Amino acid sequence: MKKYKFVGNSELLQFIDPKLMGHHIKSTKDIENWIKINHQKFDFNVEITATFVIDLDFNLLINDRHSEHIVCANGKEVFSAGEITFKLLKNKTIIISKITNQSTGYCPSSASWDAVKISLEKTDILFPEFFTTFFEFRICEKCHWINVIKDEYFVCLNDNCQNELPKNEI
Ligand SMILES: [Zn+2]
Repeated sequence: MKKYKFVGNSELLQFIDPKLMGHHIKSTKDIENWIKINHQKFDFNVEITATFVIDLDFNLLINDRHSEHIVCANGKEVFSAGEITFKLLKNKTIIISKITNQSTGYCPSSASWDAVKISLEKTDILFPEFFTTFFEFRICEKCHWINVIKDEYFVCLNDNCQNELPKNEI
């Protein structure tokens, strides 16, 4: 299983604090508790989106969506990272309705789904078959800009660079 090191802005490292690391979610009950304790509010779709990482023990850790992945992971390496959306169904069950690998801090590949799946299968939470949206990241070898690839366009989006990006995943 591929481990991902933090590759984002090093200024974020100063925010790492064991007290702010992600909440370990083992069950739907844990999601309910997290929502209550953190005063999270469901949006008009009856959904709440959070930041998540999968730690190297295959645990799902979540934080408020405005917090950084590096803080959620307490500065450590991860097996995956992204955004996770919980939906409250009419029967009051909470499920995972959306999940992505959107983390410019860790740039996990879509193949990191395998680790997400292992982690979620340890819980009683219903989840999608794969990332509902996924991104391909490339770090420019010349200027180190973190690029999100769109439409198979492998050129650095830093206007001052425009270097060709590697076709293969990092
Ligand atoms: Zn570049």
